[in-house]
Amino acid sequence: MSSARQDQRDELWASGGELDAVVVGAGFSGLYMLHRLRDRLGLSARVFEAADDVGGTWYWNRYPGARCDSESYFYSFSDRLSEDLLQEWTWTERFAPQPEILSYLQHVADRYDLRKDIQFSTRVVAAEYDDATGRWVVRTDDGRQVTARFLITAVGCLSTTNLPDFPGRDSFLGDSYHTGVWPHEGVDFTGKRVAVIGTGATGVQAIPEIAEQAAHVYVLQRTPNYDIAGGNRPMTAEDGQQIKANYRDIWQATRETAFGFPYDVANRTALSVSEQERQRIFAEAWERGGFRLGTTFNDLLLDLEANETASEFLRARIRERVRDPEIAELLSPRDHPFFTKRPPLENGYYETFNRDNVTLVNLRKSPIQEITPTGVRTTDAEYEVDSIVYATGFDAMTGTLFKLGIRGRNGLGLREKWADGPRTYLGIATHGFPNLFMITGPQSPSVLSNMPVSIEQHVDWITDCLRHLRETGRDTIEPLPSAEDDWVDHHNEVTQMTLLPMADSWWVGANIPGKPRNLYPYVGGVGTYRQICDEVAARDYDGFGRGSGGTASDGQFTGTARAKFTDIAAATTAS
Ligand SMILES: Cc1cc2nc3c(=O)[nH]c(=O)nc-3n(C[C@H](O)[C@H](O)[C@H](O)COP(=O)(O)OP(=O)(O)OC[C@H]3O[C@@H](n4cnc5c(N)ncnc54)[C@H](O)[C@@H]3O)c2cc1C
Repeated sequence: MSSARQDQRDELWASGGELDAVVVGAGFSGLYMLHRLRDRLGLSARVFEAADDVGGTWYWNRYPGARCDSESYFYSFSDRLSEDLLQEWTWTERFAPQPEILSYLQHVADRYDLRKDIQFSTRVVAAEYDDATGRWVVRTDDGRQVTARFLITAVGCLSTTNLPDFPGRDSFLGDSYHTGVWPHEGVDFTGKRVAVIGTGATGVQAIPEIAEQAAHVYVLQRTPNYDIAGGNRPMTAEDGQQIKANYRDIWQATRETAFGFPYDVANRTALSVSEQERQRIFAEAWERGGFRLGTTFNDLLLDLEANETASEFLRARIRERVRDPEIAELLSPRDHPFFTKRPPLENGYYETFNRDNVTLVNLRKSPIQEITPTGVRTTDAEYEVDSIVYATGFDAMTGTLFKLGIRGRNGLGLREKWADGPRTYLGIATHGFPNLFMITGPQSPSVLSNMPVSIEQHVDWITDCLRHLRETGRDTIEPLPSAEDDWVDHHNEVTQMTLLPMADSWWVGANIPGKPRNLYPYVGGVGTYRQICDEVAARDYDGFGRGSGGTASDGQFTGTARAKFTDIAAATTAS
């Protein structure tokens, strides 16, 4: 540890470790939260971060081809943080590569002098609510502890890697990598035989790049996805000028649309237009690249027949690009509707299967039996390789929260409370855990949105909430059980209106053995959700109990918020 970091620690412990707020994580969420707590509210706050620098996702995911799937110009902090920063920063590619996003977040940390309140290389291992003092006692992996009135998790939805427990996994004598914890010095695959396990969003980004270098790549696929053309390209000076001239409108739009993009779902159904017109609309969106294809019709996520038109459009694109019809068919999803699993964006992925040094292995037909010292054995062959790349994703949404060892009132564990699936109010707080806020927690739009927009909305809402507590002379807030029950019911109702429960996706926890099957993110839409949260705040934090010194007895749930959010959701779904 550097001596500056040691000094920083010593200073905190000398102060007795008493803080207003502890924030866990220093990615987009933690950086913005710290800025708001410290520089807007004037609170004493400390961020604990397991990594030795800021960046979160963009610190850890350094695999070849890693880049954002949201377009760069709206994958950043908005004018809520700074209009100047938007004008000063220039993205070089339409979908920024990992090093560029990381240097953006490092720049933000420096610009707002955030590092001095972030304790790096420190993992939070327990956070327990002390009923007697009404404070959170937060313990870190260096054996120390601090206390804070508020505990704010900024741990991200995708920060606990999923490494499947294949028999013999640790016997492999070559090199193994997980895309989510990639070596900082990079990996040279030149001349190597490589097995890549997994063809989700990260696999689809990494495989074309690895295939450029390696002697041979075995792509081990369980489920093919509907990969959408990314259409990545350098940003021109003209692009930059146009975007910068319109930033205010762009951000306003992101806050109102369903997915936090500056373009919304078209107000028409897929079957209301002719086949020819539908193909024209799909083709136009395809040409433009990115997630626009998912916004071409408003019933793609609601109606199976409508969805099949998009699914088939995408399968036809695979057949056009992959020369061998059998491989094209293996790459074509048949077991789930389009967008019921996170569709990866691809840049040259399908053409990779026309290369002589790439073999597609169908794990549906012959699953992995074991990892051997020299490779991967499926039920019908052994693939001898030098390296294995696990592109097997994350224990999303709850995995990292559970690892924090959170215990609320009367020692109630978060993991135990959520044994059958998350129970939250607005996806931001949960009954029994006073003064705990979860940025992009389960049952909020989170991973079903352009996340910086959802992150900012949560941070701003929490900031306003803390200001409200201070102005009304309280320091404790906690959801009422009735409000939580209503939110969970509403979340489930909205989920059931969609096709999302049909797929075995990580969105429903299907990638983790034993994980309760629920839709983890909220699918009611970013704009709708924002209105609901604002309505709750405007109605004197309807559904939250508030008070002082650890009790949150002063509060009611009038049901008006419930009526309101059902109305808003219905109106948005209909439009
Ligand atoms: C490869 C990849 C591509 C993505 N592309 C997009 C995209 O195009 N658009 C989009 O909207 N989203 C995308 N995402 C989602 C991405 O995670 C979010 O956009 C965003 O970066 C989340 O920021 P965050 O600060 O909330 O969490 P993170 O960036 O995940 O940061 C959380 C931090 O918490 C730290 N932490 C966790 N537990 C502890 C602990 N116990 N103690 C201390 N520190 C801890 C972690 O080390 C991490 O640094 C992508 C994710 C991945 C993995």
